[in-house]
Amino acid sequence: MRYLITGGAGFIGSHLTEHLLGLGHEVTVLDDLSTGSEDNLAAVREHPGLRFVRGDVCDPATVDGAIEGADGVFHLAAAVGVFTILAKTLGSLRTNLTGTETVLETALRHDVPILVASTSEVYGKNTKDGLRETDDRIVGSPLLDRWSYAEAKALDETFAHLYGTELGLSTVIVRLFNTVGPRQSGRYGMVVPRFVEQALAGEAITVFGDGQQTRCFCHVHDIVPALVTLLQDKSLHGTVYNLGSPEQVSITQLAERVVEAAGSASTLVKVPYEEAYGTGFEDMQRRIPDCTKAREAFGFAPARTLDDIIGAVIAER
Ligand code: NAD
Repeated sequence: MRYLITGGAGFIGSHLTEHLLGLGHEVTVLDDLSTGSEDNLAAVREHPGLRFVRGDVCDPATVDGAIEGADGVFHLAAAVGVFTILAKTLGSLRTNLTGTETVLETALRHDVPILVASTSEVYGKNTKDGLRETDDRIVGSPLLDRWSYAEAKALDETFAHLYGTELGLSTVIVRLFNTVGPRQSGRYGMVVPRFVEQALAGEAITVFGDGQQTRCFCHVHDIVPALVTLLQDKSLHGTVYNLGSPEQVSITQLAERVVEAAGSASTLVKVPYEEAYGTGFEDMQRRIPDCTKAREAFGFAPARTLDDIIGAVIAER
């Protein structure tokens, strides 16, 4: 089979590219290298099944050329990371809205099924235990206190859903919770690689906020096969799935576990959100997925622990 991966030179996209090539598929990567890098594809650069197109997902002609001959599209390209979005909010909105619309429109014209990467951020400030796929609709506020990245992704979901129900395109939406592993950059605000880099350099570990906020981290190697199953099995299309790990950890505990695993002497320093982000932006207090739907539909069950993840990120540095 042939697949187009938008954002294929990014963190998740490059792991997905390697996985698909390893299964004997052909892959076209479309990426503008804004946060991604060709280095992420170093292991497969010479692979005969790989085609790399450097370009913008907002450009219809570029996407049209890249999708040629594809049997399916993984749409992962997006402006991501708190630092990226806050530095360039309007440009990020454009990528995350126009880009998704352009890829959906092109997929429709070529009649190619598409997986659209969304995010747990669509749950806004909802902090209940075990977020289910319907919990994006239960909070009173119509915008659910979502910031610009989250709102754009929520609209992407609407686009994808309507291209399916009204235009007949086969679409599936994936709400990724924090996904971590080798090659994730710490530059754009991603917490695990940032802590690992600070610990290995013997620098202070900067914990934003009070450190009591919790997250659930899932290894990218548990996510990638699930993405493939979701795009390949059309009986799973027409809906949305949470993908993430149920293992919850506070950011302070995470920092302590990184320091210990790295054998580092770094100490923890709390940095107020205002100082960290230079704006009134505040992280969510907690975000715990309920992945029952994905487990029942296709047996999704992340196998790797947080210690596996921390070990893998330390090992690649
Ligand atoms: P990433 O930054 O490594 O990947 C995004 C890729 O998209 C990069 O390679 C970047 O260069 C590319 N890109 C950005 N704008 C583009 C444009 N206009 N045209 C072409 N390419 C462009 O981040 P990631 O973590 O691999 O994220 C992949 C997808 O998963 C994104 O859609 C993101 O919103 C979603 N997601 C990730 C996480 C996570 O924890 N990593 C969580 C929720 C959702």
